[in-house]
Amino acid sequence: MKLNESITGRTRLLGLLGNPVEHSVSPLLHNTVSTLLGIDAVYIPLKVEKDKLGDMVEGLKAGNFTGFNVTIPFKEDILKYVDNITDEVRLVGCANTIRNSGGVLFASNTDADGFCRAFEEETGSGFLGKNVVILGAGGTARSLAAKVASEGACRLHIINRTISRAKDIALMIGTNYGLICETEEFVHKMSLEKIIKGSDIIINTTSAGLYPEIEESPLDENIHFDSRQILYDVIYNPVKTKLLKQAESFGCRTANGLGMLFYQGILAYETWMEMKIPDNILRELYVEFSNYLFK
Ligand code: NDP
Repeated sequence: MKLNESITGRTRLLGLLGNPVEHSVSPLLHNTVSTLLGIDAVYIPLKVEKDKLGDMVEGLKAGNFTGFNVTIPFKEDILKYVDNITDEVRLVGCANTIRNSGGVLFASNTDADGFCRAFEEETGSGFLGKNVVILGAGGTARSLAAKVASEGACRLHIINRTISRAKDIALMIGTNYGLICETEEFVHKMSLEKIIKGSDIIINTTSAGLYPEIEESPLDENIHFDSRQILYDVIYNPVKTKLLKQAESFGCRTANGLGMLFYQGILAYETWMEMKIPDNILRELYVEFSNYLFK
């Protein structure tokens, strides 16, 4: 028999608050990072009911957790229980990373920075001076729209089924970044074709095409792309959505959301531990992580 010495009274505590949390790959990512870096920490899933969120946060503070992630459905509600938020969280209205500094909770959102880092690495492009189209107007669209605007995009369109949600984001972008953000609905095919044709970068943030609905796509099958365009789909399951395959068939540069998932987690870890993880470790980890997910 070998005694398990991996967790002691000195081990730093991290976790994931959400519901459901059973299928999350975050424990795999964060616990592997701790092992690779030789950091004495453990990351555990913490499933919580909606009416117990406040109690849970108090418990994590009392238990001296170093930090935690927040996922569906608490990314907005968590803001009621924290002490400080970043400007970005104030604008987008949700957080995914909480750092506990001596009982004071700091909330940030690493989704957009994770997306941006993955986008630049995988496509070799940034957003400065680009004409960008975002498909969808949910929580992810809101944070990516703010990021794309802050990175200097020259034009932004938000296309959504429910136009009021797209207009909400457009208002936030116009007010805070001085960028005119236009909106459209998926049903207006002619106008949609024109918007897509004039764009440099198209980002899908809708859940159309997400497993198990893999035959769905937010755009019509007959839509045309141009090989100079980049299509980024935040979905990573399946690895190639119908939309990504369609863009690939026109020779576009494409990427799925795995890099975003990876980097939002890495940035959260760096926030809690107040450190930078070396690039060589990240490269090695990314290969293992993607092999594991798609084995
Ligand atoms: P939300 O529920 O906030 O938003 C969903 C969006 O998808 C809405 O704009 C909704 O439109 C649209 N939508 C849903 N079904 C369809 C459809 N059949 N046709 C057209 N539009 C549709 O979700 P999130 O923003 O939190 O997440 C969106 C996607 O991003 C999910 O697939 C999620 O898995 C992925 N994601 C990936 C991450 C990563 O790290 N790679 C991180 C976070 C999210 P409407 O407003 O009309 O309802």
